[in-house]
This record gives sequence, structure tokens and C-alpha cells, in this order.
Amino acid sequence: MKITRISVYQVDLPLKKPYWLSGGRLKFERLDSTMVSLETDAGITGWGEGCPWGVTYLPGFGRGIRAGLEELAPQLIGHDPRVPAQINQMMDVALPGHPYIKAPVDIACWDILGQVAGLPLCDLLGGRHGGPVPIASSVSTGTPEEMLGFVEDFRTQGYRVHSAKIGGSDPGLDVARIRHLNAHQEPGEVIFFDLNRSWLPADAIAVMNQVRDLGVFFEQPCETFEENLKVRRATSHPISLDEGIKEMADLVRANSEGAAEIINIKVSRVGGLTKARQMRDFCLSTGIKCLIMDTGGGAMSDTAVAHLAQSTPEASRIAAWDCASMVSVASANGASAVDGHITAPETPGLGAAPVMDALGDPVAVYA
Ligand code: MG
Repeated sequence: MKITRISVYQVDLPLKKPYWLSGGRLKFERLDSTMVSLETDAGITGWGEGCPWGVTYLPGFGRGIRAGLEELAPQLIGHDPRVPAQINQMMDVALPGHPYIKAPVDIACWDILGQVAGLPLCDLLGGRHGGPVPIASSVSTGTPEEMLGFVEDFRTQGYRVHSAKIGGSDPGLDVARIRHLNAHQEPGEVIFFDLNRSWLPADAIAVMNQVRDLGVFFEQPCETFEENLKVRRATSHPISLDEGIKEMADLVRANSEGAAEIINIKVSRVGGLTKARQMRDFCLSTGIKCLIMDTGGGAMSDTAVAHLAQSTPEASRIAAWDCASMVSVASANGASAVDGHITAPETPGLGAAPVMDALGDPVAVYA
């Protein structure tokens, strides 16, 4: 089987509500998504999506994906998409780094492999574990009362895991947010606190030690590995690393130095399902718990996340994520949030179909 044509689509995904991160340092109003189809000489087509969370969250941006594909796509024509590992090796030689650019291609290869095998991707990625996977809500930064209001809103939609975005220039306000949300946490609920790298170690250590009586965990408190390790060693809370885990070497180091008990694997950030699965499997082998998410997108990205999360044993997965419910354009049909949970489709392959009216004409075609 050979790839015969690669089509690239761009779709704007306006957020239903403006979204603040990192103590109000970063604001987001729309996402720029890229959807990619791989056609083959066997008549099977695979799809994948890549969508950075704006341009300020990570070193990646929507136009970057499409520029990178200009380099990569012509070199992929004629190759067999049923071997995603080899396609990844080829892409890494052709364009070192830039994992987020390669993610939609990798996901489309998995989609084709699943269709050929007649199996949903979760079966190929480790087998279906348990029922619907909890989705972590994304609680925008605000006053303690505003943030509790957001949590209550998500609760009515069935969400039981909440990622509360805190951080900023006022450590006292962060202590108040943490205590207020924790005091109103319901039995069986998880509320964790995501800093998105906004603290310096001195603030992180001060705030976390003021709430050391609470059984909560914190995500990516500081920017660098060394800063986060310093914080982990001076505090008692479990730490989740997110933005700082870009490749397997980062994860191996985090494990060997005891920097994190939890890793947030964002499928696009690490380059797609092939590399995300390797990292998930490392976590399973070393007792690290996983959050499995993406950096943005519609139901197509959410579906890839759902498959990897569904194939992760329940004891090791804290939550998945869905972005489609946060945006006002439906770019695909696939796995979606039901009562705050997501379930990987049973259909062969990815099991997500683009909404062609939303995509319009391709912005580039390589054949
Ligand atoms: Mg995070």
C-alpha cells in the first residue's frame, strides 16, 4: 500500500468563551486547526488533526504545521502508511524536531492501519480498558468564587475531574483559590491545580507548603525541569509535568530524578500516537500516572486522545480531555463528551470523520 495524495485543510475554531491561562498572562479566543488526509492506492483514506493552543502556549503554531507539511508531505508520497514507526523515522530524518507538525500525519497513518486491520485504534494501542474515560474540565483562571462557579457548571455536565488554572503574581490569591476549590470538592471528585509554568520556585514552594495539608497535586508549576525538580524536592505534593515533557528523554529523566508522579501526555505535543504510546507505556512500566490530552482541536483530535486513554489501564489514567465542546465550529464527528466522559469508537481505525462543509477546500495538495 502506498500514499498517493496528501491534502491539507485549515479550519478556524473560535472558542465559545475567551480563555485565560497562567494567572491571566495568556489569553486565547480562537484556535487554528490543520486537518490532513492521506489517500492510498488501496482506496483507503486516513485522517489526522493538529491544533496548537494558540501561538503563545507552546513552541508551535497553526501556520507552522502547514509550513512543515510543505517540506514533509512530498517525501511521504509512495510510502506505506501501515507502518507508522517507519513513517515517523522518515519524518524525523527529513525534518528533525517539530513533533507537533508530524502528529496529524502519524494519526492519519494509524487511522489507515486500523481500517486495514479492521480494529479500532484503542485495540491496536493496548486494548480497551474499562468504560467511559473521565474528561478533565478546563477551569479558566479567575477569583476563587468565579472558579468555583466554573467547576459547578462542569459538574452539571457530569465532569468529575477538574484542571483548575491558577498562577500569577499574587501567591496569596493562589492559596485562596486552592483552599476554596478544595473545600468545595465533592466525594469522588478530583480537582488539581495547573500552573502552566507561571510560578517561580520561591512562589511555588511558598504556596504549596501553605496547603500541604490538602491532598492535591500540581501541574507544571515552573518553566524548566530544574525549577520543577527544586519545587518537588522542597514540597510534599505529587507533581504532574506537562509542557516540559517534549520527548521520551524528558520522561526518562523525570522518572530517574523523581521529578514527577504524573505526566500529562499531549498527543500532538509529543508528535502523534506513535510517540505518545511509547511514553504512555513507559509510564505504565514505571508507575507514573497519566493524563492523556491534546493541545487543541475538534472531535478528530479528541478521538485520537480517547483511543490512547481508553487503552490505558484505569488505575493509571486520571483523565482524558475534549476540546470540541470548547469551540463553536464542528469540524469532525467522532468521540465526544457524554456526561463528562469520553469513549473510544468501536469502528475500525480512528473512527472520526471530517465535516467537509466546515473544512472547505484544501489549502494544499501533494500528490
Ligand atoms: Mg497542563
